[in-house]
Amino acid sequence: MRVVLVGPPGSGKGTQAKLLAAHYGIPQISTGDIFRASIAAATEFGRRAKHYMDAGELVPDEVTIAIVRDRLAQDDTAPGFLLDGFPRNVPQAEALRGILDELGTPLDVVLELQVDDDEVVRRISGRRTCRKCGHLWHVEFDPPAVDGVCDVCGGALFQRDDDLPETVLRRIEVYAEQTAPLIGFYREAGLLRSIVATGQVDEITKHAVDALESAN
Ligand code: AMP
Repeated sequence: MRVVLVGPPGSGKGTQAKLLAAHYGIPQISTGDIFRASIAAATEFGRRAKHYMDAGELVPDEVTIAIVRDRLAQDDTAPGFLLDGFPRNVPQAEALRGILDELGTPLDVVLELQVDDDEVVRRISGRRTCRKCGHLWHVEFDPPAVDGVCDVCGGALFQRDDDLPETVLRRIEVYAEQTAPLIGFYREAGLLRSIVATGQVDEITKHAVDALESAN
């Protein structure tokens, strides 16, 4: 199962990616997570990536594509993979096609998570992450028992810098301008499946699995 997950910021892409990757026993490859790990490790690359991320802009293609190329060459992708947050524009999609052609492992399906703009803003502005274990909470939809404290590990919760209101608006614009054209790109390639991604998390996962199975 070789899958790309596409959806606007706040569509629940990361949450669904984790659940689907576990369901199929394949690695979740999230470029956002890879960049955040570089920032946490205080590397020079992390410092540069943070500059783009905090502004709501895309990290330049050259470096992003190189990272994905290396990651897809690792052995754990033999049973498949789920790409979460890559590709983010048409040049990245074309590069991905080239990488997978070289590896002889074409994509099976691209799953689009559809969410209205208003819902996106509500979801992102309430999102909080545990500093210790990374668990995601939401102040309105999935609050921890004690405000600001993770139920899972007791760690402190924080708001991602790129979830702050000004950045969120720019991320939504960048999605519309650069990422949404991928929908047409993959529809033409016959790979696109779309689901409405509102409602209960487990129900969305079920619809996602149905859509993926119908594509295979
Ligand atoms: P995400 O966690 O997928 O929402 O990504 C967070 C941020 O990381 C994005 O707003 C971008 O700044 C950057 N990013 C993640 N994936 C990509 C990508 N494929 N290309 C460029 N920038 C990316």
